[in-house]
Amino acid sequence: MRNEIGSLYWVITHLCDSTCSHCYMSCGPGGQSLTEDEAAAIIDNLPRRINQNIILSGGEVLHPGIRTLLYFITEELLRKYGKRHIAIQTNGEFLDEAVIDECLEAGITHISIASIDKHHKNRHGSLEEKERYFREILKGKGLKELPSVSELTPENVEKNARLGNIIKMVAPHFYRQPNFSIWGANEDIWLGGNWARGRALKNGNVLMDPAHNFCRLWSGGLNFLKSGSPRQEVVIQLSYLYPCCPSTRVFIADVRYETLIAGLEKAAAEPIFRAINRGRPYNGAKQFNMQPAQARKRLKEVKNICILCDELLMKLDEDKFPRSPFKIYL
Ligand code: SF4
Ligand code: SF4
Repeated sequence: MRNEIGSLYWVITHLCDSTCSHCYMSCGPGGQSLTEDEAAAIIDNLPRRINQNIILSGGEVLHPGIRTLLYFITEELLRKYGKRHIAIQTNGEFLDEAVIDECLEAGITHISIASIDKHHKNRHGSLEEKERYFREILKGKGLKELPSVSELTPENVEKNARLGNIIKMVAPHFYRQPNFSIWGANEDIWLGGNWARGRALKNGNVLMDPAHNFCRLWSGGLNFLKSGSPRQEVVIQLSYLYPCCPSTRVFIADVRYETLIAGLEKAAAEPIFRAINRGRPYNGAKQFNMQPAQARKRLKEVKNICILCDELLMKLDEDKFPRSPFKIYL
């Protein structure tokens, strides 16, 4: 496998000021964070190249209790990869003009406000006022607004990546300009059929629909083994490597102690992970002496592709693929 990936989505903390009812990692006050030593070890174990996006997320990455860690990680990533785009995803609760200056100073080039919805708390009166507030302070600091994507399919993401690469070649100055986007969780993005995890699961904020295959959408498992492709995104929750944002029931590697690429190579040797790479976990059931048709029947019973995937992955050898340490599963 080549020593490169498409995009990395790295959750560096589960600490958050909020306790949203749809939070799939059950983040909140007291949530766990990496130490700087752990973060440095993980960065050492990242691949030689990350071709598209590095997105740092939480929890809340701008929480005052974690901001020093965020800036440490940004600095270390820039040291390893040179000048490049680094994005953060935030609920915006701690974002003001001084914090925007700090972010720019730290080399963060994209701020994604991901809280314009009915689930996140709102100190701005209405959602319109909230959106206006962020737009004004971010534009006031010279950041350009990117249109928010209405449908996060791998095809759309790849199209954007291709466009980004062209801009990078023909107008590198424009490409490096800091920018922002504003969006939120709604039925079209993120909540439809997804998040059979954490507080979302406990509070019933999950669409139980066996016909909905989240695994084939962006942030699902599709293409996670596709070395370096713009269609590939892998996820690290604190130090644990997963093929997708919902975080599989077993983890692929602990990136404090092994390289990310070694983890992907280990996963690529298992038929179940190769089936996930094609966005069809039920086709991997054969590895456990279960016919795909039987697995699809089971999917109708459990009503959610991630819950079926959990059941299948729990059949893997635990010494090779330890159980995920987070208390977010059914
Ligand atoms: S959804 Fe985001 S803002 Fe809400 S508790 Fe989870 S991490 Fe915090
Ligand atoms: S089905 Fe499995 S691999 Fe696919 S998104 Fe859900 S948990 Fe991730």
